[in-house]
Amino acid sequence: MMSKRHSMLLLYSIIVAVILGAATGWIMGEDALMFSWMGTLFLNALKMVVVPLIVAAIITGVSSLGDIRKLGKPGGITILFFLSSMLIAATVGMILAGVFVPGGDFHLVAKDAAALNAENATTISDVMLGLISPNIIASAANMELLQLIVFSIIFGAALTVTGEKGRVVSNFFESLNNIMMVMVGWIMYLSPFGIFALVATPIAEAGGGEAVLETFAAVGGYVLTVLSGLVVQAIILFLLLVFIARRGINYLGEISPALLTAFSTSSSSATVPLSMDCAEGAGLKKSPVRFVIPLGSTVNMNGTAVYQGVATIFLAQVYGLEVTFGSYIIISLSTALAAIGSAGIPQGGHIMTLMVFSIVGIPAEGFGLIVGVDWFLDRSRTTLNVWGDLVGAAILDRFMTGDT
Ligand code: ASP
Repeated sequence: MMSKRHSMLLLYSIIVAVILGAATGWIMGEDALMFSWMGTLFLNALKMVVVPLIVAAIITGVSSLGDIRKLGKPGGITILFFLSSMLIAATVGMILAGVFVPGGDFHLVAKDAAALNAENATTISDVMLGLISPNIIASAANMELLQLIVFSIIFGAALTVTGEKGRVVSNFFESLNNIMMVMVGWIMYLSPFGIFALVATPIAEAGGGEAVLETFAAVGGYVLTVLSGLVVQAIILFLLLVFIARRGINYLGEISPALLTAFSTSSSSATVPLSMDCAEGAGLKKSPVRFVIPLGSTVNMNGTAVYQGVATIFLAQVYGLEVTFGSYIIISLSTALAAIGSAGIPQGGHIMTLMVFSIVGIPAEGFGLIVGVDWFLDRSRTTLNVWGDLVGAAILDRFMTGDT
């Protein structure tokens, strides 16, 4: 992982890149399109690692659950909580984006019109049939990511029941996951250049000049929508804390150092030690804390799901895509799965966001519109990710008897 000094340096470079990109698009207008290849290069580099990363991350995530036949009630409650809260989070994001319509007044034309396939899945049977691949190698080659995810979940689950005999394979996927994360770290060093070009390009395409203001208004609306979604989801989680875990504002006070750390590090994984300490300090038993928080830091990402839900609908609006009922279902499912697959590190959600876009047919270059503000949104959603884990631990604590 990147050192703290490097990630701060990267953060400053990204902020400078956003400002320079906007200024270049504004001043140079269409001429700024000569930089667009840098954005494409950055996106291609991210896409390059999508397939191996998703497969390795999901297989490792699922196999970390241990023998799924022995999960029992605590495991069941935890998984139910993780999945349902992320589905709710994605839905909150999509609904708010549908209500606020942040992409209503700003339009871009996709370079590759054929990519717009969000309308394809119109019925439940399409959605269901799209989940299982008749040929997993073809799915990997064609980036049929939803099918790969389903395969990886089943594979990971099967791996947990093979015990010693599956050890080599689970070690392999764990190493693969670590290696892919190192590669993502390297690709992030390209991000200031990529982000510069990705910010400049849509402004240049929209005609430079006053397009800057329109772009800023649309992106500003998007940021506000994501932030409102995060607040709504935080309140929903708080209600679950009050009504199911029977805890309230005191708990929030006790764990606030963990939330502040999440905001300042943009990393759920880096916050794990503090989250565990705060949760135990707030009086939770050790076993729910030790089960839910480490697992949740890689699997349970409410904030990431809200952001991906808003981002997808926002870009669908910008590209004039019609979002059907079937697409909503696909978006919420793939967003929940994408949030599970996102790593708990700064900008860990990027690759998975691109994955959701490719599943529903949003052009990857649309990412350019939202990536410039992500350094801020990442911090905010990480705080909600950690809050979700801490609420999950409190809920499980309530269902577990004994004082371990
Ligand atoms: N930074 C987030 C986390 O660590 C992941 C993301 O990029 O959404 O929780």
